[in-house]
Amino acid sequence: MSKLTEYPTNPNSIENRYRELVNRLRSAEVRFGRAPGSVCLVAVSKTRSPEAIRAIAALRQQDFGENQLQEAIGKVEILFDLDCTWHFIGSIQNNKCRDIATHFDWVHSVDRLKIARRLSNLRPAIAEPLNIFLQINLQEEATKSGIAPGELISLANAVSKLPNLNLRGLMAIPEPEPSFERQRKVFSKLRELQIELNQTLNLTLDCLSMGMTDDLEAAVAEDATHVRVGTAIFGPRDSNK
Ligand SMILES: *Cc1c(COP(=O)(O)O)cnc(C)c1O
Repeated sequence: MSKLTEYPTNPNSIENRYRELVNRLRSAEVRFGRAPGSVCLVAVSKTRSPEAIRAIAALRQQDFGENQLQEAIGKVEILFDLDCTWHFIGSIQNNKCRDIATHFDWVHSVDRLKIARRLSNLRPAIAEPLNIFLQINLQEEATKSGIAPGELISLANAVSKLPNLNLRGLMAIPEPEPSFERQRKVFSKLRELQIELNQTLNLTLDCLSMGMTDDLEAAVAEDATHVRVGTAIFGPRDSNK
């Protein structure tokens, strides 16, 4: 999904790209009538060094997203002195639930009740409830994780009753799509699905995790509350992770 343009490699470049991206996000808020600062930027730091994370944490970036647990835990531990919030955005295996429930405050990628139950059971008693997004496979692509929209109501109903979780909203990763209008259309489906879910189950889900480097404006236009951006901040990743 990244545009493989050449990015500068000097030590200041992450800071510069970060500032540019924040400007991009704040301009989108203005353009689409969103309250200033209402969209949380989750800086996707997968594959990036602790130093790169420190560089933007020093610019008051608060939220970071990781998708690979072993790598993430190493960083969370090295960066314990930073006051940041960690979001898990990757696929979740059964045997990883304890570490996720211990080291993270948000999980964007829940798509099975069994996993949600384990996260709830393993969330440390002293911690706040773990904030949860249910990942939806909006376009019902065979190869993608996430539940089909038709399975959403029963999963959301069960997850919303788990004691140590706080179900906050829906998340999706649509197929790359160059047309702004078509990007919006897909994101509006997620937004509408959430409104319908709130009405059906009498819930108050208030967050939508959608929008990445190449479609964040469309996501902001459709009421995203969390955009997950890696490439635009840190530059292209080495591998296709
Ligand atoms: C990698 C990743 C992103 C960030 O993608 P970019 O194209 O680098 O902005 C966002 N969400 C998820 C779930 C990811 O795995």
